[in-house]
Amino acid sequence: MTVYGTRPEAIKVAPVIKAIEASDVLDSITVVTGQHREMLDQVNEIFEIAPDHDLDIFEHGASLSTIVARVLERLDPVLEAEKPAAVIVQGDTSTSTAAALAAFHRGIPVVHVEAGLRSGNILSPFPEEANRKITSQIAALHLAPTATSRANLQRESVADNDIVVTGNTVIDALLMTVEKKTPFTDPLLEDLADSGSRILLVTTHRRENWGGAMEGVGRALARLAKAFPDVQVVLPAHRNPVVREAVLPHLVGLDNVTVTEPLAYGEFTRLLSLATVVLTDSGGVQEEAPSLGKPVLVMRENTERPEAVDAGTVKLIGTDEERIVAEVTTLLTDRAAYEAMAQAANPYGDGAAAGRIVLRIERLVSGDSADDQDGLAV
Ligand code: UDP
Repeated sequence: MTVYGTRPEAIKVAPVIKAIEASDVLDSITVVTGQHREMLDQVNEIFEIAPDHDLDIFEHGASLSTIVARVLERLDPVLEAEKPAAVIVQGDTSTSTAAALAAFHRGIPVVHVEAGLRSGNILSPFPEEANRKITSQIAALHLAPTATSRANLQRESVADNDIVVTGNTVIDALLMTVEKKTPFTDPLLEDLADSGSRILLVTTHRRENWGGAMEGVGRALARLAKAFPDVQVVLPAHRNPVVREAVLPHLVGLDNVTVTEPLAYGEFTRLLSLATVVLTDSGGVQEEAPSLGKPVLVMRENTERPEAVDAGTVKLIGTDEERIVAEVTTLLTDRAAYEAMAQAANPYGDGAAAGRIVLRIERLVSGDSADDQDGLAV
C-alpha cells in the first residue's frame, strides 16, 4: 500500500506504483490523503493512477496538527480493512510521517522511500526535518537515494541490511515525462517557448520562508525583471495563499514576468528543459534540474541535498534580496560562471530507482532479509 498526499510525493511515488503494478509478486493499493488537492490530482492524472482510497483531508489553512490527526484517524480503518503486507511512504511531509505512524501502530512494516536526508537543523526545513527523522525511527526498510543519505542513517544506528541505496525516484519520473515535450495549456507559455528568450524559472513555497523572506524574493524578482528586459521571468505560483500574497504584489505590471497557476508535471518538466537559470526553494526541482544541465540557485540557508552543491550544479544562496539579485545577475552575464554550473550530470539518480525499490520490497514481503545486493553500486 502506497500512501501519499502532496504533489512532490505523488511525483516521486508514481514510478514506484507503476513498478508495483508490473510486479508478479505484489499487488498495488494506493491511498491519497489529499493534503494537497488540485496539485495532487494533476499528478495522478498524468501518471494514470486512480487511487483506491481518498482520505480527503484537505482544508484551507489546516494546521499541521490537524493534518496529522486526520491522516491517523482516517487511515487506520483503511489499514484494518486492507491489511497490507507493507506500507510505503515517501519523503518528509506530514502525510508521510502520519501514515508511517498509523502503519506502525498496526504492526505493518513501513517502507520509507527517499530515506536519510538530513539538513542537520530540526527547524529547517520545517516541519520536514523532524518528519523524516521520526519516520526513520519506525521504518522497517530505508530506501536511501544516495550514499550520503545512507551514511546519515548509519550514523543514527539504522542496520546496514535495512538500507538500500536506490537513487531518487524523481529522476525516474522526470525521464518518463520530459521526453513527451508536453504542450503548454497557457498560450503565453507556448509563445514564450517559441520566442527562444532566456527564461528565469522561479518556484517558491517553503514554510520557513513565509513572510519577510518571501517578500524579499518578490522584490528581488521585480528588480531582476527590470534589469534584464530581454529575460522572461516565469513563476508557476504555488497554490498556498500565504506564498501568493507575499510574492505576487511585487510583480504587478512587469511585462516580462509571467505568473501561472501550478503547472501540470509534464508542462513543468518542459519549462525546466527550456529554462536558462532555475531559482527555487524546492527540494524536487533542485534534484531534477541537474539532469537537464540547468544551473540551480537555491533560496535556502541549508540543504539536506548536498550532493549537487558538491558537484557544482547547485548553489545555496539564501533569501537575502541583494544576494538573489547578485547571484542571478552573475549567471545571466558571466558566461564562464554559467558554463561552470550548467553540467548535465546528476548525483541523485539514473532513472532506474523504482525497479530497485520494488525488488527489495518483494523480498521484504516474502520474508527474505538478504543484504542489499539490489542497490546502486556506491
Ligand atoms: N512541479 C510541478 N509543477 C509546478 C512546480 C513544480 O509539477 O508548477 C514539480 C517539480 O517538477 C518537482 C515537484 O513539483 O518534481 C516539487 O514540488 P515542490 O517544490 O512543491 O515540493 P518539494 O520538492 O520542495 O518538497
